[in-house]
Amino acid sequence: MVIEKRQHLGGNLFCENIEGINIHKYGPHIFHTSNKRVWDFVNAIVPFNRYTNTPLANHHGKLYNLPFNMNTFYQIWGVLTPVEAFRKIEEQRAEVRKKLNNREPANLEEQALILVGNDLFQTLIKEYTEKQWGRKCTELPADIIKRLPVRFVFDNNYFNDTFQGVPIGGYNQLINGLLEGTDCFTGIDFIEERKKSASPFYILNAHFEKIIYTGALDEYFEYSLGRLDWRTVSFDTQVIDTPNYQGNAVVNYTSHDVPFTRIIEHKHFEMFGDNVYACPKTVISKEYSTEFREGMEPYYPINNNYNNALADAYKVLADKERNVLFGGRLAEYKYYDMDKIVEKVLNIDIC
Ligand code: UDP
Repeated sequence: MVIEKRQHLGGNLFCENIEGINIHKYGPHIFHTSNKRVWDFVNAIVPFNRYTNTPLANHHGKLYNLPFNMNTFYQIWGVLTPVEAFRKIEEQRAEVRKKLNNREPANLEEQALILVGNDLFQTLIKEYTEKQWGRKCTELPADIIKRLPVRFVFDNNYFNDTFQGVPIGGYNQLINGLLEGTDCFTGIDFIEERKKSASPFYILNAHFEKIIYTGALDEYFEYSLGRLDWRTVSFDTQVIDTPNYQGNAVVNYTSHDVPFTRIIEHKHFEMFGDNVYACPKTVISKEYSTEFREGMEPYYPINNNYNNALADAYKVLADKERNVLFGGRLAEYKYYDMDKIVEKVLNIDIC
């Protein structure tokens, strides 16, 4: 049985169809994994297409390729060969190492500087990260930036994984296939219902052998130890009367003078080449990042020392819940990718 707070299933994977285009209503989701078992599992539910994420970054009207690769190095420094690029990065890294006195990077800023040097940090990372997280780069954990590859080849594929794509027909196909034959109740808030003895869901905690809880960790315990911080995003979604608005699914805006973090043009997740023009309109979403307040949707855990310690304290309580497994970004307070969750579930011993 699935109990879902929202009026629809699928959590943040949910897509809404507008003008024949699947809109990633809660932000872009690109499935990528190197685990063949995970890839085969999701593809057995719905075949995935060949979408490859190659985001661009717009900084003061100039476009750069991401992740950091030979194209980016050429665009920023004009270097033509990997040796030249490596030399340039190493020069900048050496300065940083000197400043750090060869100690390990202690925050996102230091980690980014060690990874790509100051020029790329200033152009593509600093202000984007501050917009995205609402905090200075020196106040954020180094781990966030370790997600991004640095390559000395001309390769704009954002991910290093073996397999990548988006379900053909959109993510709702995956959700519906996964939940086929399952009793699903939408518009029911488990946290509220478990308090009301008159509710048919009141007995859930006691009567079900196992519950998998995927809501926010602190909410489950009614914030008894304090509130975890989250980042949330909001979307300004517009239908535009042109078949091809930005020529790419994802364009990041990496400077402070643009208030949103990125523009998603949804059709590019599923329509490639000339097929883009088969659909006369397009739908874009400008993505704004803000601090979470009550009543908003939590999206990103903010895994700094304070929050991690609080989450660990909640996890001690969670371990004592006899029949409840806590899983996912919200319930584990971890910046998970989708494949890692599928992998975890495939390996879990539910009994
Ligand atoms: N990032 C950045 N500039 C970019 C893209 C990403 O500085 O143009 C940094 C930023 O701190 C971000 C992190 O890299 O939070 C991880 O980016 P990713 O694209 O993996 O984030 P997601 O797609 O999960 O929001």
